[in-house]
Amino acid sequence: MRHSIITMAAAALFVAVATARADVSVTVDHNDVEASKPSFTFKRVPPPSKTDAASKAKFAIVDGERDEAGGDLEKLNDGKLPTEQDEPHENFFFDAGTDGGRIGVDLGRAIEIKQINTYSWHPDTRGPQVYKVYAADGSEPGFNSSPKAGYDPTKSGFKRIAAVDTRPKPGEPAGGGQYGVSIADSAGGAIGKYRYLLFEASSTEDADDYGNTFFSEIDVIDAAAPTTSSSATTQPIFITGKYATIEVTNAPELQEWAQSKLLPVCDEWYPIIVKMLPSEGYTAPEHFTIQFRNNMNRGIPAATGAGQISCNIAWFKRNLEGEARGAIVHEMVHVVQQYGLARRNNPQATRNPGWMVEGVADYIRWFKYEPQTHGAEIRNAANAKFDASYRVTANFLNWVTDKYDKDLVAKMNAAMRQGKYSDELWKQYTGKTAEELAAEWKESLPGGGGAAAATTAPSPRS
Ligand SMILES: [Zn+2]
Repeated sequence: MRHSIITMAAAALFVAVATARADVSVTVDHNDVEASKPSFTFKRVPPPSKTDAASKAKFAIVDGERDEAGGDLEKLNDGKLPTEQDEPHENFFFDAGTDGGRIGVDLGRAIEIKQINTYSWHPDTRGPQVYKVYAADGSEPGFNSSPKAGYDPTKSGFKRIAAVDTRPKPGEPAGGGQYGVSIADSAGGAIGKYRYLLFEASSTEDADDYGNTFFSEIDVIDAAAPTTSSSATTQPIFITGKYATIEVTNAPELQEWAQSKLLPVCDEWYPIIVKMLPSEGYTAPEHFTIQFRNNMNRGIPAATGAGQISCNIAWFKRNLEGEARGAIVHEMVHVVQQYGLARRNNPQATRNPGWMVEGVADYIRWFKYEPQTHGAEIRNAANAKFDASYRVTANFLNWVTDKYDKDLVAKMNAAMRQGKYSDELWKQYTGKTAEELAAEWKESLPGGGGAAAATTAPSPRS
């Protein structure tokens, strides 16, 4: 379900401090946790842009500290978006335990600003946005582009443009999910002609140290720029099968391949994966989407969040005859895993080790979907670690399954989905600890206990 919360006219605030022409309106759209997709699509707020005026602007921290668990300031204007709801290094946020800070933006020259759009994504209180934004053209007497906290920006030559607060009101549903905020002239004109922007962000709560918003992107739309939004001018291309809808709007050249090669794999393998990974009371999503995107980080072939698989167009075009379909099988496992459920339903849920999450996905891919490729074979045991994730863990899981318990992966999956994973489970299911199993597994591999050499090829993150 997707819903929007507030459209707030900030005109009154604005008129008080400025004589400029625009009536500024603030539009807030919210996708709740379930409805949040890596594509950041909103009901009214436009999707993030890669070619907006902010993409070439200089961003600087004017006051406050960056949280080093997060990304650099470039996360705000690189046009790239997180692919999951809790991906710290793909967002910028101020340091834990602080009440936000100030970010300055220098557009290089004064432009007629049509919109200022801000985007954020987090499953909890770091989703909503609370900030004020100021603007200046730089010619104001006594202008200072970087007023520190405690100095009123309007005394440094800035005009206050808008105040934004997207937090839910008391009694409304929780504030996790994605927020898109669009600050614009209510008549569709320009907000004004400005070179400098100053954002003053505040944390959304002080109940704990983790209230600073995960900002994913800030866009500044130049009124003079041609409207380049591909979604507005390009006909969307969707291919729909029994379980999957594949969107290739941004890569029409993949349409034929997606229809004839990829869709049949989804139709055949999605129900097989669902059957392999049952657990009590669980129903897998009936339908999911696969979106081919050109704004993913290089080095990430594909990623899954909130029931949507995102695919990196450049990577897929290079690997169409090779790994492309297997990579989608891996992502379909993530769609079925739904391990986020446990943490939403059960506050006591344990965190699943990432190497198991990826190991299960690669186990199904390499040992069930495409065993003939031998893609997860280990040629030398020397460096093999059972918790090395991806293919190496897949190989370990396959070995334990063959030797000790043919239902091991199904059982581990059920435990992880319920938030009950623990290292004890290995002993419970096989009579041996993971370390004991790993030692036996290494013995069984070619060169077991022997010379040092490479294991399998390293896998790309997916
Ligand atoms: Zn994965």
